[in-house]
Order: sequence, then C-alpha cells, then structure tokens
Amino acid sequence: MATVGFIGLGNMGGPMAANLVKAGHQVTVFDLSEAALAQAQEAGCAVASDVGEVTKGADFVISMLPADHHVEGVYLGSDGLQTQLAKQTLVIDCSTISAETARKVGAELAERGISFIDAPVSGGVGGAKAGTLTFICGGRESAVDAARDVLNAMGKNVFRAGDVGAGQVAKICNNMLLSVLMAGTSEALQLGIAHGLDAKVLSEIMLQSSGRNWTLEVYNPCPDVMEGVPSSNDYQGGFLVDLMAKDLGLAQQAALRSGAATPMGSLTLNLYRSWSQLGHGREDFSSIFKYVTPQTKK
Ligand code: NAD
Repeated sequence: MATVGFIGLGNMGGPMAANLVKAGHQVTVFDLSEAALAQAQEAGCAVASDVGEVTKGADFVISMLPADHHVEGVYLGSDGLQTQLAKQTLVIDCSTISAETARKVGAELAERGISFIDAPVSGGVGGAKAGTLTFICGGRESAVDAARDVLNAMGKNVFRAGDVGAGQVAKICNNMLLSVLMAGTSEALQLGIAHGLDAKVLSEIMLQSSGRNWTLEVYNPCPDVMEGVPSSNDYQGGFLVDLMAKDLGLAQQAALRSGAATPMGSLTLNLYRSWSQLGHGREDFSSIFKYVTPQTKK
C-alpha cells in the first residue's frame, strides 16, 4: 500500500481521499478549510499542519484544487512544494487547469528530478463518491503506469491522452462538448414544454431517437424527470455553473492559441458566464435549463 499526500479536499477531493483510505492507502491531507480537514480526519486520513507535511515520505502527492493559480502557488510559489518534494515522489495533479500551467509545473518539477502527470477527472461528485471517476492523464507512459494503482482506488478508467498537458486538453474538449449538449437539450425540452408536451414523454422520445445524449441518459436538466440528479434537487450538488464557465474559458484560450474554430464553445461560454452573473454561479450547470425558459406571451 502506498503513502499518499493529498491537497484540496473540496466536493471532489474529500471523497477521493476517503476512497484512498478505504483501499488501504496511508493518506495525509491538507486543505485551507478546517471543516474539510475535520471531515477527512473522520474518514481516516491523517491531517498535516501545513502543506509541506504532506510530502513527508510520500510515494504520491495528489492535488485537487480549483484553478491554475492555486496549483501554481502550491507547487511553485515562494514556499511551494518544489523544494520539499523528494525525487521518488510522483506528483499527480487532478485539478482542471490550463495545459500551459500543467506543462510549466511539470517542467519545473522535472528540472529537480521529480515526475509529474496531469490527471483531470470526469464523473463529477457522484463519481468521486462512488469511486468511479475517469482519469484523463498526460505524462510519460511509465509515470502514468506508476499512478494506475492509486488512481484505480478512486476511479474505474485511466486513460493516457499523451505527454504532460494532454490530459487537460482532452478534458476541456470533453467539457466543451458537454456544455453544448446540456444547452441544446435544455432548449429542446423547453420548446416542447412551451407547446404543451410532457417533459418526461419528450425526454423518452429523444432518448430513443437521434437526439439521444448523456444529459438525457443520466443528467436530465428538467426538474422531476429523473430522480437523484441536481435538477430534481433545486440544482444543488453536482458541477457548478462557475466551474463550467472556467472550463469553457480554458477551452476558448486553447482555441485562440491553436487557431481552432469553436463557435459553439464560444456561445456556451457566454451563456454560462452571463448565467453566473445573474447570480446562478453556485448552482449545478444543468440549471442553464432555467435560462431558456420561454417568455410569457403578452
Ligand atoms: P471545491 O471548490 O469544492 O474544492 C477545492 C478545495 O481546494 C477547497 O476545499 C479549498 O479550500 C481547497 N484549496 C484551495 N486552495 C488551497 C490551497 N492553497 N491549499 C490547500 N487547499 C486549497 O472544488 P471541486 O468541486 O472539488 O473541484 C476541484 C477541481 O476539480 C476543479 O479544478 C474542478 O474544475 C475539477 N472538477 C470538478 C468537478 C465537480 O463536479 N465538482 C468535476 C470534474 C472536475
């Protein structure tokens, strides 16, 4: 069993660290939130008094942080981990950040002889709790192979997309497509409802027709069509509008850098940003369904 340091115990990191403990790994955790630390301790993790302590004797250091500047700060900041990590430690960053930041952190750690992979995840909070996440990795093949055992304790699929940064590129491609599917499915359902159709019946028809997609299968955005999804829980839990807007921003930056044309991704970025500005940033991303509510006819 491995010794693992884990940084970032939010909606995703908390249950991921708990699953590592369940699989028999020895896990030492750090977060800025006392409440998150207390919960991790209850799940069987040892609590570090500062971020550097998670590196002590660690075979793996895993981070699950909100955005680029958090990851850069933790590894490369003035008292960052780059000077404290031992050469045998493999660093696995599971946060969704830009490929550039992943490559920057990877290169600076490599200069000190420390291996790094980016391993953003798909599967949401439900997948983190159930231990069924998909890890989309970027890094040397040997490093990804070395990470498989610990990743398998938190998920059911481990893919290697290419070298460091490639995991992040694959992840934002997936999330850009997901946002388009969610917005399109919401529009189609609202159009049907506006014409008197029952959302459950329409969902079933589209599910068996060419409009079939993941949101209709497991994440219907219309309240009370499906049990156990955020739309049937006042859009609480799940994947925040603000996090989707962040990922779509990363996708557009990547498109600008490469010259790729992503008109649909650009539309959904604007849709999610304005929905957030209207005060819905902390709701699940399926709440975009409410944004396309038909206007009442005068
Ligand atoms: P979250 O905001 O719930 O958790 C982030 C945690 O990081 C918080 O507990 C915070 O206190 C901690 N943190 C911030 N800065 C820190 C620091 N310097 N040191 C230690 N801890 C620090 O976010 P989340 O929903 O768990 O998402 C984490 C990452 O996973 C994001 O990049 C997100 O895009 C990605 N992701 C989220 C989901 C989802 O459904 N929530 C799905 C896939 C990927």
